[in-house]
Amino acid sequence: MAPLNFCLVSFGGFMDRSTEKKLTESAVDLGNNGKSDAVPELLGLTASESFHVKRLAVSALGKLAGTANSAEVVPVLLKCLGDSNPQVRQYAMKSLIAYGADSEKALCDLQDIAANPSEKDYNRTLAEKAVSVISEAVRIRLEKTESKCQRCSVKINVGEFARSMKAFQRTYCDKCFDEVFLKRRNYDTEIEDKKTIETRSGTLVQSDGERIIADFLHSKNISKLPIRRTDQDHRRICHPSGFLPS
Ligand SMILES: [Zn+2]
Repeated sequence: MAPLNFCLVSFGGFMDRSTEKKLTESAVDLGNNGKSDAVPELLGLTASESFHVKRLAVSALGKLAGTANSAEVVPVLLKCLGDSNPQVRQYAMKSLIAYGADSEKALCDLQDIAANPSEKDYNRTLAEKAVSVISEAVRIRLEKTESKCQRCSVKINVGEFARSMKAFQRTYCDKCFDEVFLKRRNYDTEIEDKKTIETRSGTLVQSDGERIIADFLHSKNISKLPIRRTDQDHRRICHPSGFLPS
C-alpha cells in the first residue's frame, strides 16, 4: 500500500490523509444536502491544496445548480477549467453543464479544451458535449425571453408564436389568441347584424348618419361605398364604415 499512499500525497499536495478524508466527506455532504448556504464553504474548498477535495467541492457545486446563485459559482467553476489536474477540469465541466445557460461565459474556454491536442481525450469529449448543451440552453433561453405574450406576458412556445404571428404579426399565447380572435370575429358579426338601414344604392349601413353620407356620395356618382372586410387571415386593424375609392 505504500506506493499508493505516496501517489495520493504527491498528487494531492502535502495535506495529511485524515484531513483530506474529512474535507472530501464534508464536500460530498454539502453537495448532497442541496442547500445553497453551503456555497461559501464549497467555494473555499475549491482552493484546497488537495485535488480530491477540490474535485469533490466542484462536483458538489454542480449538485447545487438551481438553488445556488450561479453568478457566484460559475466564475469559480470557470477558473477550475484551468486547473492543473485533469479531474478537476473534468468535474468543473460537468458542473458547468448543470448550470446550463448561466455557464455561457465558459463557452470559449470549453471550445479551447475541446480543440486542445494535449488535453485528455475524456475531457475533450466532455468539453464538446458541454459546448453543445450550454449553447442549446442559451438558445432556448433567448427564444423564451423573446417570445412572451404581448397581452398577458406568459412565455409562449414556438407553436403559439407561429400561430399568433401569422394572424396578428404580434406574439400572443393561445389563450389570448382565442380570446382576442373570437372577440374580433364576434365584433365583425355584431357590426353586420346592426346594419339594417338601406341606402339609395342598396348598401346596408348602421345609422342614419351613414345613410346620409352614403346617399350624398351616391348623388356625386360615387355610387358604391365599399366596406372593408376582414381578409382571409382576419387581419384587421380598424373598422371603417367605408372609404372613398381613388
Ligand atoms: Zn397571453
